[in-house]
Amino acid sequence: MIKKKQKRPKICTIGSHCSLQVLKGAKDEGFSTILICEKKRYNIYKRFAFIDHILFVDRFENILEKPYQDRLNELDCIIIPHGTLIANLNSDQIEGINIPFFGNRFILRWEADRLLKEKLMRSARLNVPNTVKTKDEIDRLCIVKLRGAAGGRGYFMAWDKQSFNEGCQRLVNSGVIEREEDLYIPEYIQGVPVFLHYFYSPLSDEVEFMGVDRRYESDIDGIARIPSKQQLNVTIEPTYNVIGNIPLVLRESLLEEVYRMGENFVKATQKLVPPGIPGPFCLEGVYTKDADFISFEFSARIVAGTNLYIAGSPYSDLLFENEMSTGRRIALEIKRSFSNQQLDKVLT
Ligand code: AMP
Repeated sequence: MIKKKQKRPKICTIGSHCSLQVLKGAKDEGFSTILICEKKRYNIYKRFAFIDHILFVDRFENILEKPYQDRLNELDCIIIPHGTLIANLNSDQIEGINIPFFGNRFILRWEADRLLKEKLMRSARLNVPNTVKTKDEIDRLCIVKLRGAAGGRGYFMAWDKQSFNEGCQRLVNSGVIEREEDLYIPEYIQGVPVFLHYFYSPLSDEVEFMGVDRRYESDIDGIARIPSKQQLNVTIEPTYNVIGNIPLVLRESLLEEVYRMGENFVKATQKLVPPGIPGPFCLEGVYTKDADFISFEFSARIVAGTNLYIAGSPYSDLLFENEMSTGRRIALEIKRSFSNQQLDKVLT
């Protein structure tokens, strides 16, 4: 699948999630840009001068069709994967796309599959929440999740078998799941949820810490606005649907561990899913009251929380002279590897 590009490539992504950041960053690094745009979303994307070319599709899944892939290859493009791509296509479909991908497309399967995900995180020696195998073993507060990347939708809290059964029944009745085996039961970690954005460069063999955010989720983040008296008198089933992101900086003393976790993660990916993880990734977890980081997820590609830092973050400002978003950092890596004829190090 690796295809060395002779002509200067164009940078392409699908219109959602962090596409504006990616294409703006590509333009800042001197690339031509292509957006794969659902027709119904054109009203948003028509506004931005840094988008050079728009390829219209009815649905994102259209890019599985040969004529679209041929057109993108004629345009000589590299596709930058993000969360909307993996929300719309399954791992087999992603692995089969005949367009050069930035990063390791095979690791996206490890992001989508809860068991593979946990294996990789444990191999990276991250602290992960304990998981409960069956509802009969639930003896503490748990956050019950759907298998696969669901972005917080449908999650519910369970503290015993009955609360699990109630939550599960609601999901079955509303058609979200078919059976309780579709659920995954990690313990709930109390503390503050934090999302750590990294970039690994195979050219320099360095991990760069690019920024950190917290999420603003509906309606769990709205519940604190309801006084406790009213909370106790109405049934509230919180959901964790991401609405946006909030910037954050960490205590400087936490940075050493942040870098250590990023470096261990890169090594684990190189061992389990060669060639590893060229490009951006995110470790997602909770800092407990003892400031220990318990990691409940990773994303093996750019995350939408990086949209906060289109003009650079407090951390990227320490590493780069330019205003360096993660999208721009991707373009810079492609530019460097193209001029050294090392594109095969960053593409699959
Ligand atoms: P996820 O889809 O796994 O990224 O999770 C969505 C949201 O659920 C996160 O932003 C957290 O607020 C929350 N969450 C997920 N897993 C845990 C956990 N094990 N403990 C506490 N909160 C969690």
